[in-house]
Amino acid sequence: MSVLALILGDQLDPEYLGTLGLDRQRDSLLMVESRPASEKPASHIQRTTLFLSAMRHYAHDRRKEGWQVLYRDLHHESARGEIPEAIPEAIAESSANRVVCIQPGSRGLQQQLEEVCASAGVSLHIEDDPHFLCSPETFREWASGRKSLVMEYFYREQRRRHDILVDADGKPVGGTWNFDKENRKSFRTAPEIRPRRKLRRDAITKKVLADVNELLPNLPGSAGAAGNFNWPVTRKQALRLLEDFIEHHLASFGDFQDAMWTGEATLHHSLLAAALNLKLLNPREVLAEAVAAWESGAAPLNAVEGFVRQILGWREFIRGVYFFADADYAESNALQESGKLPKFYWDADTEMSCMASALGHVHENAYGHHIERLMVTGNFAMMVGVEPRQVLDWYLGMYADAVEWVTTPNTIGMALHADGGLVGSKPYAASGRYIDRMSNHCAGCRYDPKARRGEEACPFTVFFWDFLDRHEENFRTNPRMSMMLRNLDRIAADERDDIRQTADRLRHQFGMQD
Ligand code: SF4
Repeated sequence: MSVLALILGDQLDPEYLGTLGLDRQRDSLLMVESRPASEKPASHIQRTTLFLSAMRHYAHDRRKEGWQVLYRDLHHESARGEIPEAIPEAIAESSANRVVCIQPGSRGLQQQLEEVCASAGVSLHIEDDPHFLCSPETFREWASGRKSLVMEYFYREQRRRHDILVDADGKPVGGTWNFDKENRKSFRTAPEIRPRRKLRRDAITKKVLADVNELLPNLPGSAGAAGNFNWPVTRKQALRLLEDFIEHHLASFGDFQDAMWTGEATLHHSLLAAALNLKLLNPREVLAEAVAAWESGAAPLNAVEGFVRQILGWREFIRGVYFFADADYAESNALQESGKLPKFYWDADTEMSCMASALGHVHENAYGHHIERLMVTGNFAMMVGVEPRQVLDWYLGMYADAVEWVTTPNTIGMALHADGGLVGSKPYAASGRYIDRMSNHCAGCRYDPKARRGEEACPFTVFFWDFLDRHEENFRTNPRMSMMLRNLDRIAADERDDIRQTADRLRHQFGMQD
């Protein structure tokens, strides 16, 4: 019985072929460069190039090993439809009578896959994804019956279960599970950041860029974005990026993981999420390298623990939430927001220095580190009141590492608090003062981070108070919001009116009510 294995663009670990029990003499692989996958939502030119180039490299390598790969590139008729729609024709070509796949990281795609196979009358087998350190079932067992899902408790269990940075008694090395307090430093002067390694752009990547230019000419990204492309598209390149991070950036990553600086997009962040999410790297090897750096004295514990928390804690927790939540989680809108996403999210053209910087990084390189995503672009969208689905589509398209299982809970839950508190017990709302503390952006901005009314009023500060004001009733029942609301209570009624009017004026200026 021959098998057709669907290989998705974020399933590029060749080990999966063994997981699926495939035989290269008998079975076929199907890969599809779906145009709708790059257009709905609109996907940044670098994100599209990354996925397509990594897929073509994967197909090239498998063919060299003797695998039969049915590759539907952008020019193929099948590329006009959604990925699963290519299956019936591929079944006919390969004479397979069964389809197999690693569990997709998109619940919608899995449903389409099941429907297409059912209507084509072929059996479908979906295998658990062995890439992750916590299966959806294990997460469900942990989460079921809990009043709220607290990442910290999940993370401690992960550390114990996988024996990472714990001693023989199951206690955390260094005497504490969490070094967050040490990891919130900001830069006082311009940091000297070693430039990242340039990755070779080979003939496959150049052909992808030419195909994208011809067939997907309207993708977002700055004018120079295609020329800036520097994402790893092979495992070899991904390992180079890992080595570069461990050797040159991990030691400083912890101290400055929440800092921002104008003109510095990457600081000491790893840039590994894209390679991990496409499965060019395995989280176990990434964790092992980071822990080895601490054991050898090359990186301090606060940095290594902070990094381990991201990979073993947040990444796995967020995936668990994605599969645990209701199927319509992506449509959540607990705060009932309906504003339009401001145009400057698409062109970075704004007088707010912090937003111009964070959005500029996205437009130039399909990248933003976690504080820019959470406390600048996400915080702003939440406080100003953009409809969550519009924000989610923007995040899904604009970051090179975006895939549904991670971007959906990170945006809907963490950044926007639109899930009513499933991911975070309170909204990550912060005024301009936070950005002033963590960056140099405000020094070069036309707004004043302390001002909440008048022409100089900082939009972050205005919308922070306006957000609390608009949702006051809702937040009164949340004990974690009590301090913020006590501060709101201290603002006189006439000033609260002024804040509301300034917020409305700014919303109008940002084109949110068009
Ligand atoms: Fe951003 Fe406000 Fe600071 Fe300007 S003043 S950079 S808008 S936080």
